[in-house]
Amino acid sequence: MKYVIVGGVAGGAAVAARLRRNDEHAEIIIFEKGEYISYANCGLPYYVGETIKDREKLFLENPSTFKENLNIDVKNNHEVLSIDKINKTVKVINLTNSNITTESYDKLILSPGATPIVPPISGIDSNKVFTLRNVPDADKLKAAIDNDKPTSAVVIGAGFIGMEAAENLYDRGLNVTIVEMANQVMTPLDYEMAAQVHEHLKFKEVALYLSDGVKSLKDLGNRIEIELQSGKRIFTDMVVLSIGVKPLTVLAENAGIDVNRGIVVNEFLETSAKDIYALGDAAEMKHGITGKNAIVPLAGPAGKQARILADNLVYNSKKPYKGAIGTSIAKIFDLTVATTGLPEKSVEDSLSVIVNGSSHAGYYPGAMQLFLKLVFDKEGKLLGAQGVGYEGVDKRLEMIAAVIRMGGTVNDLTEVEHAYAPPFSSSKDPVNILGFTAE
Ligand code: FAD
Repeated sequence: MKYVIVGGVAGGAAVAARLRRNDEHAEIIIFEKGEYISYANCGLPYYVGETIKDREKLFLENPSTFKENLNIDVKNNHEVLSIDKINKTVKVINLTNSNITTESYDKLILSPGATPIVPPISGIDSNKVFTLRNVPDADKLKAAIDNDKPTSAVVIGAGFIGMEAAENLYDRGLNVTIVEMANQVMTPLDYEMAAQVHEHLKFKEVALYLSDGVKSLKDLGNRIEIELQSGKRIFTDMVVLSIGVKPLTVLAENAGIDVNRGIVVNEFLETSAKDIYALGDAAEMKHGITGKNAIVPLAGPAGKQARILADNLVYNSKKPYKGAIGTSIAKIFDLTVATTGLPEKSVEDSLSVIVNGSSHAGYYPGAMQLFLKLVFDKEGKLLGAQGVGYEGVDKRLEMIAAVIRMGGTVNDLTEVEHAYAPPFSSSKDPVNILGFTAE
């Protein structure tokens, strides 16, 4: 069996490794248009911020180790240009010498990811405007900080990646401003939970412009002038654009494969074309709660999809991927902010409760406040949860996410049996209290 994989980072590398574990005889080829494979995208902001000091630590594998350890052929700096689904071939360009070749496949797996949305900007020195998606982006941003010694940065877009970028620029000593078109940061949060992040940013002296978009950017030579839609002007040394990502669907679209916002796949990660599969940030599939098509661009789901897909391919089985519910977490300066499932604002007639809890027993030193919000329907079925605090937010959100994943109710939360001793929790954990309050 010959597997060809497009994209060699989170989804692509994971599917390749699992295919090899399952089938020692298969021919496996990865085409990756960038130089690097199997690296930690999620670590990039922390490399820029120098929390991760050693660049090598970002790389989990490289083409040689993939070949030596797993006998997988990695063709990096090779971009797949087109798919011929009738003859089951792909056309590939070697980006180092521009040679174009054709490669046949038995099964084709698309994990091309997504690309940052960049609005048309002209007349700005490209060394002053940055995105943060891959290793070259991180290298460029870090080099600009190291070499040009900027003192200020504006992050446009307050999603998870924008917020992580803001924190890491701040850690490098820059004065950071965040501009966001919505009236809050981090859209998966409901407003009252996001408001605590707004307060924290104020405390950290990070300027935050909400409900305001960027009208224009002007390069003044030594500074960039940003004019906001409100008419306000901000002057900065550098800009980080983080206004969202667009799934890379062009290959699939040109091959006549069904594409909506992403490459449409069913629960077996099968596209509309025979023997062609898709996963990760480029793939659109049923959401684990709504059952409607959605894209959940997170590393965890990509890895789980990779495992299921590789198993189904090799064992000719039909295990379904049940759909991601969007469980995510971010460190926002000193805060932990986590969400799972749906926010209240996105579900008509949903109910919610908020609990102001404690990371562990109040009488044991060091207990920290945390806020948890639970979203559920009239029958008590859990729809989502959000947490903001300093310690222990992660485990509470993961407990709730696990119960949501199993189709649980508020009653189930009252019965979650947690590991309790005073340094870790309280005899009634905030998750139980959420359940009691919601019952
Ligand atoms: P990618 O990992 O992006 O891989 C796609 C690869 O395909 C790219 O390397 C691309 O060059 C290649 N490619 C595209 N088109 C072609 C082509 N035609 N030919 C050949 N190669 C091609 N998720 C979390 O869950 N937690 C986090 O903390 C987190 N932090 C993040 C921080 C940052 C800065 C970023 C950018 C992402 C973060 N994510 C996080 C998201 C996570 O990294 C993605 O969900 C995951 O990488 C998606 O995997 P993928 O395989 O779909 O795409």
